[in-house]
Amino acid sequence: MPDRVAKRSIRDLDLAGRRVFVRVDFNVPLADGAVADDTRVRAALPTLRHALDAGASLVLASHLGRPKGKPRPELSLCPVAERLSELLGRPVRFAPDCVGEPARQAIAEAGPGGITLLENLRFHPQEEANDPEFAGALAALADVYGNDACGSAHRAHAPTAGIVAHVAEAAAGLLLDRELEHLGALLASPARPFVAVLGGAKVSGKLEVIENLLPRVDVLLVGGAMAYTFFRARGLPVGRSLVEADLVEATRAIERGARERGVRLELPADHVVATGLEAGAAHECLAVDDPAIGERLGVDIGPETGKAYAEVIRSARTVVWNGPMGVFELDAFSQGTLTVARAVAASEGTTVVGGGDSVAAVAKAGVGARVTHISTGGGASLEFLGGRTLPGVAALPDR
Ligand code: ADP
Ligand code: MG
Repeated sequence: MPDRVAKRSIRDLDLAGRRVFVRVDFNVPLADGAVADDTRVRAALPTLRHALDAGASLVLASHLGRPKGKPRPELSLCPVAERLSELLGRPVRFAPDCVGEPARQAIAEAGPGGITLLENLRFHPQEEANDPEFAGALAALADVYGNDACGSAHRAHAPTAGIVAHVAEAAAGLLLDRELEHLGALLASPARPFVAVLGGAKVSGKLEVIENLLPRVDVLLVGGAMAYTFFRARGLPVGRSLVEADLVEATRAIERGARERGVRLELPADHVVATGLEAGAAHECLAVDDPAIGERLGVDIGPETGKAYAEVIRSARTVVWNGPMGVFELDAFSQGTLTVARAVAASEGTTVVGGGDSVAAVAKAGVGARVTHISTGGGASLEFLGGRTLPGVAALPDR
């Protein structure tokens, strides 16, 4: 697993008087021409402050939404420049294009020690195509390249991979550095017992993660819709629950693999079944082998399962959690997920939570600050946990 090799961090570079191009993740939600949620902008601040304190000038680049290679004014990063300026307490120049004269001019105006935010990278089709000329044009704007966009590290795009060949020095930003450190440690040398909690909507998106974690973990706790494909394989009644029929065999292989390796694989013993996936749907708690589920569907793990899972999590020394235990967006079906979130927070071991919805669930439970590492890489982090090499990471030089 080459990604596990420590990558050079911008902390390792001398940034004084240099122009640093940072690929950030400012893919934020906008509303009425302003930033509706600035979590991602705030997440980039440590890297930006580090570079500024070291005496660098900053050239920042990001994508926003899916403009599909054409300028779309409603997907301009201009409002993000304003918000960033407020957060840093310093002026931020906005360049109306990410390459060429508009970019050069804005950077010149920002001056030494200044900050420039370039317009949405994805207004150019060459960005996703990893076009070498485009990568060169971006690289020409700076001396040093830093990648801090964890969520884009699994894509071989011009500003994440191609650019590295064109700059004098390249390194991971502090966010990416931290992400690689925590996820790398999970895979390489976890303190035991190591417990993985997997849930969410689908088995399909997580099959690789399960396969890669199986030889490493002591316990695998399964919840969410994912459990129903396992139940189908075991011949349990699943009603109209979300089952991926084409993966029933794959879950059998996972159960076999767990048995062979002595991994404790736990499925829910009880669950909440409901008449539908809407607020106010009639629901009750049943044992998972109770045929009374009828034509209803499973929407959450039950209280008995929640208690058992929480106990396992609390006594673990390493926990990785991806995927909610139920349809936590609806309060009536959120108990299992909140129970797991609180248990993860209460664990004294190293705890890592990944996945957009799981991170949202941790926030909903109000325990984000008590988790060791909130992974911001989304799909990229899942690919990393699945054992894949991420092009944006592989492109960076080793430490
Ligand atoms: P993450 O974003 O943390 O990786 P996923 O996207 O895989 O998680 O899964 C989150 C979604 O799974 C949520 O929208 C949740 O409602 C859904 N989900 C969880 N359990 C069930 C279930 N039993 N039936 C249907 N959907 C479920
Ligand atoms: Mg999700």
